[in-house]
Amino acid sequence: MEREEMISRFSTFFREYKDDEGNSVYLNKLRDLLTVVPKRSLSINWNHLNSFDPELAEELLENPEEVIASAEDAIQIVLREDLMYNGELKIHARFFNLQHTLLVKELGSEHINRLIQVEGIITRVSEVKPFVEKAVFVCKDCGNEMVRLQRPYDNLVKPAKCDACGSRNIELDVEKSRFINFQSFRLQDRPESLKGGQMPRFVDAILLDDLVDTALPGDRVLITGILRVILDQKDKRPIFRKVLEVNHIEQLSKEIEELEISPEDEQKIRELAKRKDIVNAIVDSIAPAIWGHKTVKKGIALALFGGVQRTLPDGTKLRGESHVLLVGDPGVAKSQLLRYVANLAPRAIYTSGKSSSAAGLTAAAVRDEFTGSWVLEAGVLVLADGGFALIDEFDKMSDRDRSAIHEALEQQSISISKAGITATLNSRTTVIAAANPKFGRFNRMKSLPEQLDLPPTLLSRFDLIFLLLDEPDEKVDASIAEHILKVRRGEAEVVTPKIPYDLLKKYIAYARKNVHPVLSREAMEEIKNYYVRMRRGFKRKGENDEGMQPIPITARQLEALIRLSEAHARMRLSETVTREDARAAIEIIESMLRTIAVDEEGALDAAILEVGKSTKKLNKIEKLIDIIKTLESEGEFGAPEENVMEAAKQAGIGTENDIKRLLNDLKRDARIYEPRGGFYKVL
Ligand code: ADP
Ligand code: MG
Repeated sequence: MEREEMISRFSTFFREYKDDEGNSVYLNKLRDLLTVVPKRSLSINWNHLNSFDPELAEELLENPEEVIASAEDAIQIVLREDLMYNGELKIHARFFNLQHTLLVKELGSEHINRLIQVEGIITRVSEVKPFVEKAVFVCKDCGNEMVRLQRPYDNLVKPAKCDACGSRNIELDVEKSRFINFQSFRLQDRPESLKGGQMPRFVDAILLDDLVDTALPGDRVLITGILRVILDQKDKRPIFRKVLEVNHIEQLSKEIEELEISPEDEQKIRELAKRKDIVNAIVDSIAPAIWGHKTVKKGIALALFGGVQRTLPDGTKLRGESHVLLVGDPGVAKSQLLRYVANLAPRAIYTSGKSSSAAGLTAAAVRDEFTGSWVLEAGVLVLADGGFALIDEFDKMSDRDRSAIHEALEQQSISISKAGITATLNSRTTVIAAANPKFGRFNRMKSLPEQLDLPPTLLSRFDLIFLLLDEPDEKVDASIAEHILKVRRGEAEVVTPKIPYDLLKKYIAYARKNVHPVLSREAMEEIKNYYVRMRRGFKRKGENDEGMQPIPITARQLEALIRLSEAHARMRLSETVTREDARAAIEIIESMLRTIAVDEEGALDAAILEVGKSTKKLNKIEKLIDIIKTLESEGEFGAPEENVMEAAKQAGIGTENDIKRLLNDLKRDARIYEPRGGFYKVL
């Protein structure tokens, strides 16, 4: 098609296209563009064009560069002739709603230089830089000016010598050249569109002018663009690299689930929810190949359904996500459980703490290998925003992740400020993680936080922490062995979940999207009474002790109780949280506290979770330090060990062995030191 013809056909389309109600869609849009703060893009529904002028719509797909330019020329004509505009505003023609949507991994050589529509998630975004759209070169010898139009995906086009005098003394005239904003980003297939551990494919893309800063890492987008190829500079062979020149970008809602739930599905789901034993049926349907671990599975089920996120009138957000941590001996099926859940959970990403990507779990500013400019790259928690991150080897995460992950888990966002890039990325992600003990296996005599390579402040962000010990027990061992053997032999009934896998998957997605339970009065009473009772009981018991009093439970657990009660109601698809839901939440929290937050004497103490040591132990430590301080002057090199021992026993700190252990801990934590064997000083 001739250029002139395309322009005239577009002008006709803009002037004459009317929607079902008879509105001149594009004349109206153009009029709206010319408001106080003029916009620079006209978005055109490809479907409209296709119904009005199919030939032109087809031509656009085949030959986008020229057709888009014609559309832009036509816009200028319509602006001047129909809307009496006589300014200089350049308006981009941007097309959306093409018939066919591609995945990144489907992009191939047949799409080169064609207009295509691609869907994916943005993993990294570069800083915004000026791009010289129209470069004006000046000959330093004769003053001749030469204009070269540039392409954002190509190398700079520069005249080798002056057209007029032949001199090679040529320079870019920045003043006379025209610059527009340029930004690149990386588009990758959505994690949930990849099945079974496929490596995600990506394509680099370019945003120009008014499109810059419209996208952040973690955004799910639908893009129309022209697929370009450029010679890979690093590769000596004639191999090209794909670059997508974006024409139109649309944010996809994060709420949209990838699963289609049909009316028949909905009926089945509603029917299922009526079962009396629905909660148990769901729990038993999680990883049926793994024997036992019922409480853990229940905790995971609660996290899968999740509590309800609320926004207070002052804008404060209360998170609904319950994070779950599994810690335990090697070989107790932690990894296997996480893998199973990664397939079951909607929008889930499975990863390891020592994940190889630069962005790791949170986010990072890194240098792009092709352009050398800084890019902001999203980690797993951002990419899984609105879904789940299943993180194995959580204790092996990088130091950068360690410092950023607190914010990610509690505030559900990740702020980054580095190399001129500042951004806050959303991470409304539920974390289900697994960690191994620092010293190979767990020691029942020591508290959990002391044996984990994770700071206690981080542990306290998890609503549920499960301890999975591998202790020989004849009955249990026999059952596990039998179960594993049956699974191996392919005995169907052992591995067939009570609720079919696909249905459960839909059930979870459906509940998360449609059910938003509210606490009933009875549920509130139940939780309040439990909380008050727990806290009251302990004060009385510790009355005669000196030092700090242990607090059995804190407001953090109270919030966890609310989230878990809501999740329990959601499992039943109930809009109200009943007393029973609250009781179920209390039961699971209580059993967690009883396994990991009891001190040396069997009393509940939340300090173990919050600071990593029991209050009793903290008190003893403080006492012991006081003793060393007072005895420091007694010996030439500090407090003599015998004297410290004597005084500590007197003060009731414990047996000689207890005291020795404490002294060792204090040395390790650099609270005291030993100037000479058998003498101590406080640091
Ligand atoms: P971890 O991550 O805790 O170190 P894995 O998930 O790698 O352990 O499990 C080790 C193996 O032991 C897996 O093949 C798993 O199937 C098996 N296994 C351990 N405990 C159980 C169990 N309770 N039921 C079934 N299989 C089990
Ligand atoms: Mg493992």
